Amino acid sequence: MQQIKNYINGELVEPYMGNYLDNTVPATGEIYSQIPDSDNDDLSMAIESAENAQQNWANTSNEQRAKVLCKLADLIEANADTLALSEAIDNGKPITLAKNVDIYRAAANIRFFAHACTQFSSESHSMENVAINYTLRDPIGIVGCISPWNLPLYLFTWKIAPALAAGNVVIAKPSEITPMTAYLFSKLCIKAELPDGVLNILHGTGPNIGAPIVTHPKIKAISFTGGTSTGAHIAKSTAGLFKKLSLELGGKNPTVVFADCDFEDTVKAVTQAAFANQGQICLCGSRIYIEKPVYEKFKKAFIEQVEEIKIGDPLEKDTQHGALVSQEHMLKVLSYIELAQSEGGKILTGGKQINLEGRCANGFFVEPTVIENLDNNCRTNQEEIFGPVCTLMPFETEQEALELANGSEYGLASSIWTNDLKRAHRMAKHIEAGIVWINCWLLRDLRTPFGGVKSSGVGREGGLEALRFFTEPKNVCIKY
Ligand code: NDP
Repeated sequence: MQQIKNYINGELVEPYMGNYLDNTVPATGEIYSQIPDSDNDDLSMAIESAENAQQNWANTSNEQRAKVLCKLADLIEANADTLALSEAIDNGKPITLAKNVDIYRAAANIRFFAHACTQFSSESHSMENVAINYTLRDPIGIVGCISPWNLPLYLFTWKIAPALAAGNVVIAKPSEITPMTAYLFSKLCIKAELPDGVLNILHGTGPNIGAPIVTHPKIKAISFTGGTSTGAHIAKSTAGLFKKLSLELGGKNPTVVFADCDFEDTVKAVTQAAFANQGQICLCGSRIYIEKPVYEKFKKAFIEQVEEIKIGDPLEKDTQHGALVSQEHMLKVLSYIELAQSEGGKILTGGKQINLEGRCANGFFVEPTVIENLDNNCRTNQEEIFGPVCTLMPFETEQEALELANGSEYGLASSIWTNDLKRAHRMAKHIEAGIVWINCWLLRDLRTPFGGVKSSGVGREGGLEALRFFTEPKNVCIKY
């Protein structure tokens, strides 16, 4: 059985204590590889290697750093088929999605920040005839990057690319549930001749290696993407340590459909927004509000569209809906479908586990599920399910739509579907979310700020925001 290795000081190494965890294929339920169950001993080695690499990497010119990172992006592209296959096997997502979205974006993330660091500038403030201030922005030093399982290589690179581009050395932990592409990525780092110790990848669990990374005194900043409760735990455990924290957390995103939308385009895009990656994208729109005059028409067309989604083996090229990431997660999603029914919800389509035949007979598949007849305040509509489950709710006025959309502890993303320009601007202004899409969903420009409000997180990633997060500003004031 394949054993994944940690990547420390430029080498692939076994976990110090020799402990491994099993890694499962979600589409078949089989254990197919093992990953290091890393702990403090592995972290100590990674810290030592990062400390040794820190000064040289910080002093490397932006152009030189960009060159190495671009080489890494090229290697991701050259190995896109292998990486996409590995992502589909490890995560359960359709291989076509893995290739066109996950792996494509992983290369784009690295190339984007490689170029961005060469364009990064800092501010200067003139005090008329008295003095001039300028701001230095130096790398922080050793930083920690922790990422989740839903977009494994995509979110992993989204963090480490700006950290490395800004001149930091990184200790990174991918999710224990989807470690494979991060492991393959470490091999590409060796090929790209990323200097030893600049990036260290430690595999393992949240408690055994995630928590030690977060609280290590030599790691000065943590960029974390994951669940809100883990984010809260990280915020508490680092409160006295005065680290820089970027927390990208959960969502329960509203999709607001007005009667004047482009109906057919909207139905297609709202289906995509609810069910892409089996609903396991933090930006998925799972609360769908529809203006009353088109509610019934939308419901009918939406269900038809959802029932056309091709469910199947993630390794088949035409599969649109694969497996959920784990049995535990599948059971959680199914329990929410049960809860929805006990709360009075009516299942319009889906609602059940899928038992495919053949290779995937023991996989973790759940039907795309649409529910109506639920109150906005019930648990189904308030808690993040993070699976292929969405609810439909009617509204009468723009004000009511806004109140329903904002009636959540989360505030990550939202999408508004209308042809009324003024209304689109009003909604965008007042909706409580870090990201608002008008007549589109998941259209991403990597220069824009990315992140959430309320329980969806603290801080912003993307573009200059990320480079600012990963640098320490120092003001210098010179008297004339
Ligand atoms: P988790 O919070 O369970 O885990 C995220 C990462 O943190 C994993 O690598 C995990 O390790 C690690 N971890 C767990 N406990 C700790 C700890 N105490 N200290 C440090 N690290 C720890 O999230 P999931 O992996 O389940 O991901 C799904 C969640 O991520 C959803 O809530 C989703 O909304 C959110 N998300 C948010 C995004 C955003 O941009 N806002 C984007 C994508 C997802 P391990 O895997 O071993 O448990």
